[in-house]
Formats: sequence, structure tokens, C-alpha cells
Amino acid sequence: MRVLVTGGAGFLGSHLCDKLLAEGHEVLAMDNLITGDTDNIAHLAGHERFTYVKHDVTNFIYVQGPVDAVLHFASPASPVDYLELPIQTLKVGSLGTHNALGLAKEKGARFLLASTSEVYGDPLVHPQTEDYWGNVNPIGPRGVYDEAKRFAEAMTMAYHRHHGVDTRIVRIFNTYGPRMRINDGRVVPNFIKQALQGMPLTVYGDGSQTRSFCYVSDLVEGIYRLLMSDEVEPVNIGNPKEMTILEFAQHINQLTGNLGGIIFKPLPKDDPQQRQPDISKARRVLGWEPKVSLDEGLEPTIAYFREKLSQELGEEMGI
Ligand code: UDP
Repeated sequence: MRVLVTGGAGFLGSHLCDKLLAEGHEVLAMDNLITGDTDNIAHLAGHERFTYVKHDVTNFIYVQGPVDAVLHFASPASPVDYLELPIQTLKVGSLGTHNALGLAKEKGARFLLASTSEVYGDPLVHPQTEDYWGNVNPIGPRGVYDEAKRFAEAMTMAYHRHHGVDTRIVRIFNTYGPRMRINDGRVVPNFIKQALQGMPLTVYGDGSQTRSFCYVSDLVEGIYRLLMSDEVEPVNIGNPKEMTILEFAQHINQLTGNLGGIIFKPLPKDDPQQRQPDISKARRVLGWEPKVSLDEGLEPTIAYFREKLSQELGEEMGI
């Protein structure tokens, strides 16, 4: 297949490019680099089946030649990023999704939307199943991401029903691994960076809120299986192993030997109190479940951030 990955220089997008190339496909990565980074795809430069195009997908997307699949992964995805980039986040989820769907329709390509557990908002159903409609504050600060993604799902289903586009929707839960931006403000890079610097870990609120962390290789495998399946309705992909943020902080301090301890900071507005994917559907329809344990995934992730921090230090010292 010839596959377009929007957000192809981002954390998930770049890992998807690797997977698609490993499966023998041709890949066109598109990114405007507002949160993506060409460092994430530098190792693919010169690959005969890989091309990178700098483009903002909120503007009309033109691709020459055939396209067999469009994977729409462009979007800021960290709460800190989308609070700093509220309009871009709304635009990429709405206009960007519309353009990407328009391209898929024009080319007769399959379309896969990167949606999110944020469509469930601060969920009142636990764990979250795909048939839960969610509890989202449309006018709160997180609404710019949540509502854009909810609109993107609605648009995807409309293109499927009205134009017959062959569509897929993955609802992605918290994912971590190498190539996350060290300063993106999410809990995994924040805690690891703080721990490696011997600083206290910043737990927001009392740390009783829960998350369930999935390693990136598991996630990418699930997404690839979904792309190759014929499941049109949304599918949760994530790791159901749930823990409180306080437990997660204690675990990171223990793994890294950090003696900096923990400090408590205010909880951001509308921060979901609990989150755990129900992955029965992914198990049933895709034969998928995560394989990588938290410690197995944290090892290469910590190594990656250690390397990034020493690069940053080297740059500051002019080395
Ligand atoms: N969080 C935290 N300390 C940090 C960053 C995040 O306690 O330095 C908390 C945050 O309030 C949330 C959870 O960790 O409850 C996960 O936050 P993240 O930004 O990674 O993503 P979210 O799951 O909220 O989209």
C-alpha cells in the first residue's frame, strides 16, 4: 500500500511509519512540526519507500499519485500543548480531519482516525467501553481537544455513511515510549525528567486520579491490526493495567533511585479522575492485547530520556 501518515513526525506517527515500512508499505509522512520533530524520522531519511512532506493539514492536502490509506495522526496531544495551541488543536481535529477525509474519498483510500480516550471526558462509566458516550465539558480548557476529536469521529462516520469511505476509528489511551517530547508536559516525560535530575516529582492534585499506560509498540500493533481489519466502529486500544498517579510517581522514583521525593501541585481543570480502557472489543475483533509490561516499557523510555537530557546538557555547554 501507499500510505499517508499525517503527524508522521510526531511520537505515534513516527512509530507508525516504522511499522508500515517494516510491513513493506510505501509511506508518505506529513507534518507541520508544531509538536512533531524531524529527529523522530531522521533515521528514515534516504529510505527508498519513505518520503516526508512539511505541510499543515488544516490547509488543502494535495498528494500526487495513488494513495491506498490515510492515517490521520496530526494533532497536539498533550494537555499542556493543546492549552497553548487551542485554535490549532480545534482546527486540526476539524478542518484537518475534513481535508484528510476528502483526500481519502478522492483517492478511494481507506481512512483511519486517531481518536482518543478523551472522547469519554471525565468518565462516569468505568472501565470505558466503546458504547459509552462520554462526559465532556465542551467549554472547559480541555474541550478544544475533546470536542475536536468528537467532531472528527462524527465527520469520519458521516464520510463513511454518506460517501462510502472505508473508515476506521481507534480510541487511543495513554501511551508512552521513546520519542515523546521531553518537555511536552505529560506525566511520563515530566516524571522521568524530574527523576533523572534528582528533583521532586510533581503530582497534580492528591494523586488519586488513575491512568493506564500502554507501551508504544503494543499500541502500534493494535492500530495496524485495526487498519487491516474490517471494523468500522471505534475500537479502544490501550493497556488496562490501571494505577493512581501517586503510585506511578512512587514507582518512577523507585526505578530510577531518585531521592527527590514527591511534591503536590494543583490539579488542572477537568482532569479526568479515572481512566481504564475496556479492551474486550480489541481482543475479540483484532485478537489483540498488550504484551509489554510497565517495567519492560519504562526501561527503554528512561534510557531515551536520559540520552535526550545529556544531549540538551551538551548543547547548553556548547559541546
Ligand atoms: N500529572 C501529574 N504531574 C505532572 C503531569 C501530569 O500529576 O507533572 C497528572 C495529570 O494531572 C493527570 C495524569 O497525570 O491526572 C496524566 O496526565 P497527562 O498530562 O499525561 O495526560 P492525560 O491523561 O491527562 O491526558
